[in-house]
Amino acid sequence: MSRRPIVIANWKMNKLPSEVSQYIQYVAPKLADYPNVDAVLAGQDVLLNTMVMAAKDTPIEIGAENMYWQDKGAYTGETSPQALADLGISKVIIGHSERRNYFRETDEMVNLKTLAALRNNVSPIIAIDEAVQLTSLNDHAHWIVNQVVESLKGVTEQEMNRILLAYEPTAAIGSGQAMTPLDAQKSLRIIRQTVADMFNQKIADHVRILYGGSVKPANAYDLLKQPDIDGVLVGDAALDATTFLELVSLAD
Ligand code: PEP
Repeated sequence: MSRRPIVIANWKMNKLPSEVSQYIQYVAPKLADYPNVDAVLAGQDVLLNTMVMAAKDTPIEIGAENMYWQDKGAYTGETSPQALADLGISKVIIGHSERRNYFRETDEMVNLKTLAALRNNVSPIIAIDEAVQLTSLNDHAHWIVNQVVESLKGVTEQEMNRILLAYEPTAAIGSGQAMTPLDAQKSLRIIRQTVADMFNQKIADHVRILYGGSVKPANAYDLLKQPDIDGVLVGDAALDATTFLELVSLAD
């Protein structure tokens, strides 16, 4: 089963509005060399308008890093999924481990946000994290399965076409220490199997699952070679446009 590779940059809270255009102008024309890879840049809300304008008529897709679960309304300071869609945002990261750990996002909130994104035609990239304190293999598998099941509650078979899942073990994020390709593959296999158990094998074969956590050019190729790793979600390394492009080339 061949799934289209995807590289997603998660800029987090690092880039300034004044830095957006240069990055996109550097990357966009060179993507023509890698027509088989989806390239997505996810930025904080204050950048999104500038990002969308700069990426107009290029193959780059723009994603948000978070949003609220109500479509719109009196929720001061939150991000409306309806507004994201109206701006031309195609994807949104939901349940990143930084959201879960610093902002106390629960599986239930992740599920509500997933359903809201789908309702508003924005594709959710659901981040599945893994706590550092898990010790046994059983704990580890149970933790992953539970997050997948909880986040996908109420999602229909048809909507699964628009879902992406990203496995991001907390210990690997921003630490410089990626998981080994084989260990990452084992976790992604558990995620795919969970999707098969919840829906069916065909849907599991189609859903794209990414690995995230200290991905860089030195380890990306071996990670992307694994049968269940369809792409990478990249923080630090993707802050640099040249490195982002190198990662896209490795996914091709
Ligand atoms: C992330 O936070 O999504 C991430 C993968 O970060 P890093 O690549 O810096 O580990």
